[in-house]
Amino acid sequence: MSPNLLDFDLEGLAAFCEGLGEKRFRAVQLYRWIHQRGEADFERMSDLAKSLRGKLAGAAEVRGLPLLSEHRSADGTVKWLFDVGAGNAVETVFIPEADRGTLCVSSQAGCAVGCRFCSTGHQGFSRNLSTGEIVAQLWAAEHRLRVALAMPEGTRAIDNVVMMGMGEPLQNYAALVPALRTMLDDHGYGLSRRRVTVSTSGVVPMIDRLRDDCPVALAVSLHAPDDALRDSLVPLNRKYPLDELLGACERYLSAAPRDFITFEYCMLDGVNDAPEQAQALLRLVRDRLPCKFNLIPFNPFPASGLHRSSPARVAAFARVLQDGGIVTTVRRTRGDDIDAACGQLAGEVQDRTQVARRRARATAPAGRVIPIAGAGAALAGRR
Ligand code: SAH
Ligand code: SF4
Repeated sequence: MSPNLLDFDLEGLAAFCEGLGEKRFRAVQLYRWIHQRGEADFERMSDLAKSLRGKLAGAAEVRGLPLLSEHRSADGTVKWLFDVGAGNAVETVFIPEADRGTLCVSSQAGCAVGCRFCSTGHQGFSRNLSTGEIVAQLWAAEHRLRVALAMPEGTRAIDNVVMMGMGEPLQNYAALVPALRTMLDDHGYGLSRRRVTVSTSGVVPMIDRLRDDCPVALAVSLHAPDDALRDSLVPLNRKYPLDELLGACERYLSAAPRDFITFEYCMLDGVNDAPEQAQALLRLVRDRLPCKFNLIPFNPFPASGLHRSSPARVAAFARVLQDGGIVTTVRRTRGDDIDAACGQLAGEVQDRTQVARRRARATAPAGRVIPIAGAGAALAGRR
C-alpha cells in the first residue's frame, strides 16, 4: 500500500517531499490542501506544479477511513463509526455547543486498561490506531461538517479536540504525537494548545514525555480518592499509584498551556460518590496542585453492574469540592440517545488480549456476550 499522507505531520511531509526531490514550501502547500481544504485528489490541487501532482499520484495517497455509519442525536451531537479493518471499528463524536464545536477522537481499537465502568475497556484491546487513522477522524469530521452545516469559506466546524474517545492515548504515544502536531499546526487545523486535550487514565512516564514533546491541555481520569478504590476501578493504578500520578501532574504544569489539570471523575452510585470521599479528594489535591474537577455522571451499559449516582448525590459531592475552593463542573450528558455519551463508545473490537474474556469469566455467567451499541448491525452487513 502506498504511504498515507495523513500519517505525516508537517515535518514528516517535508521529508517525504524531499525524497521526491521537492522543496519544503511544496510540502506546506500540499499539507494545506489536505488538512485545510479536505482535498484528497492530487489532480484537484490546482496550484501544485503538474510535475509534483504526477509524482504524488504514483507515490502516495490521502487515505481516509471508510465510514460505516453516521448518527445524529436530537441535541445536534453526531457520531461516526469508522472501519479500521479486520472487524474493528472506532467511534468519533462531534458535540456542538453555543460557542464552539468539540470533537471527541479515538486513539485505539479497544483499550487494554480495562476500567470497570468503561464500555470500551470491557471490550478488550485489538490494536493501536496509526497517526493517519487518528487524524482521519478529524479530517473527515471537519470537512463533512463544513458541507453539512453549509459553513462559509474560511470558517471551521471544530475548535476543540479531546482525546476522549475509545482507547488510552498515552498507550499509543508514538502515533499520538504527530497527530497532535497536525491538529496544532497553523498549516494544519491551527487549534490552540489549550483547545486540544489529552485525557489519560494515568500513564505516568508518558505524561512526562508529553510535557517535553507536545504539551497540550491534560485531563486525568481520577475516579477515586485512594489507591485501594482506584486499584479496583482503574487497574493501571496498581502500576502508577496516586502519589506518582499526582507527581507527574505537578511536573506537567510547568509546561502545560493551562495553569491547572482537569480531573475527570465518573460518578458511580455507592462506589465513589459519598461526601466523605469528596472530602478525601480535597485533602489529596488541594495543597498539592491547581486543578479543576469535571464530574461525569456514569453512563450505564449492559454488563457493567454499576449505577449512575443520583443528581442530588452528584450535587452534594460537587458542593464539597466547591466549598473547598476547587472549581467543579458536572458534565452534561450529550448524545445519549445515540449511545455517544462518555464511556458508551463501543465500536467493534476483535479482542486480542483476552481482557474481555477474562473479565466476563470473572463477572458474568460463562458465555455471556457483551452487546455492542449500534455497531454490530453496520459491520455485520459488510461481512
Ligand atoms: N482512556 C482515556 C480517555 C478515554 S475515556 C481516559 O480514561 O481518560 C474518556 C473519559 O470517559 C474518561 O474520563 C473516562 O473515565 C470516562 N468514562 C469511561 N466510561 C464511562 C462511563 N461509562 N460513564 C461516564 N464516563 C466514562
Ligand atoms: Fe481505557 Fe479510558 Fe476506558 Fe479506562 S476509561 S478502559 S483507560 S478508554
